[in-house]
Amino acid sequence: MTTTPTKEGSAAVQARRVLVLNSGSSSVKYQLLDMNDRSRLAIGLVERIGEETSRLLHTPLTGGDAETRERTGRIADHAAALKAAAEELAADGLGLDSPELAAIGHRVVHGGLRFTRPTVITDEVLTEIERLVPVAPLHNPANITGIRTAQALRPDLPQVAVFDTAFHTTMPEYAARYAIDVETADAHRIRRYGFHGTSHAYVSRKAAELLGRTPEEVNVIVLHLGNGASASAVAAGRCVETSMGLTPLEGLVMGTRSGDIDPAVTFHLKRVAGMSTDEIDVLLNKKSGLLGLCGDNDMREIRRRIDEGDERAALAFDIYVHRLKKYIGAYSAVLGRVDAVVFTAGVGENSAPVREAAIAGLEELGLVVDAGLNAVRSGEPRLISPNYARVAVAVVPTDEELEIADQTFALVGRAESAGQEVPVGEVDN
Ligand code: ADP
Repeated sequence: MTTTPTKEGSAAVQARRVLVLNSGSSSVKYQLLDMNDRSRLAIGLVERIGEETSRLLHTPLTGGDAETRERTGRIADHAAALKAAAEELAADGLGLDSPELAAIGHRVVHGGLRFTRPTVITDEVLTEIERLVPVAPLHNPANITGIRTAQALRPDLPQVAVFDTAFHTTMPEYAARYAIDVETADAHRIRRYGFHGTSHAYVSRKAAELLGRTPEEVNVIVLHLGNGASASAVAAGRCVETSMGLTPLEGLVMGTRSGDIDPAVTFHLKRVAGMSTDEIDVLLNKKSGLLGLCGDNDMREIRRRIDEGDERAALAFDIYVHRLKKYIGAYSAVLGRVDAVVFTAGVGENSAPVREAAIAGLEELGLVVDAGLNAVRSGEPRLISPNYARVAVAVVPTDEELEIADQTFALVGRAESAGQEVPVGEVDN
């Protein structure tokens, strides 16, 4: 617990609010949480930053009916975006100048090998996050901008980085290394880092809770199926394998990303199709996956088309599910014993057909889905396997913002004072 000095310098108000910031290249998502009961005080989003059509959506959650306010018109940059968000919060009596604010927690996509846990951001930490830009060129620069902007707004406040990669740093070397020349790999920091770690950590812990066990007692396969998608194998609370790699491109079929592909496809596209590296990058990251296969990346739309007899949509669905099955099988082998397979994120939480199809035919692995339980719509963690099943199948809604807030608040509570450095891992990357 922290006590923040007031402007006059006297310690007064117990600071138990955390602002969570998720800064993308053209958007900022934010949530203000009250850590007394871990409730949301407000949530918001600024999108299309830098364009004429910028938009801010802000929803205060302190009153009865949550009513979303909208601002439209150009918001020039991240600084302006955060300022606009701060104004909206202030209008609800939740201003960022409040002594009740304990810390700002930032989602940072890439922490390399060095950042194995949440870290209070010092100049040295920020320099390290900058050093990782070559391995996360799309994500880390936006995260850094968000951090600098927040620091300018409240220089007195602890800012904490919570890394998407951190949960995966426990992967054994034989899972994290690509089978390429070691010197080349090390010179360019090429290895499998994994992403969505905050979600995998939260969901695997919640799954253990749902089974009435501690995380140390269970082995879990987590399937995070959003627009981006990744699987992880979590043994006794520690990640031992995950599907994303050096970048979020590897692994499952995603909304717009291909996932696993023969790397020689890229040489072929270059040599035979005459495409540039950038064009191939865009093809595999933005124009592939479900979108590339059938022209839609929203699972709702794909299911609607399948119901109307659309064969391209049906094939896209089958490819998506086939890849999922391969990962469930592979991770069952990696873990040896599986206690639960857990679905989460937009598709995983909402698409009963995906869950049913991914588990269908896996009875030999102890996996069965109960059609009735699978059809239930709920925002709560729940089992969708029948009582007799050897392995539980579950749906656990993810909550990355709550996990970031929890980790931020726990760290600030431990560190007791703003800016205090905490251990950031042993390996210099
Ligand atoms: P991200 O955070 O990666 O943008 P989300 O976890 O919010 O993604 O998931 C977004 C995706 O979830 C959508 O693209 C859509 O395919 C899927 N989705 C959302 N709601 C539903 C639903 N009711 N049924 C099926 N799929 C859904």
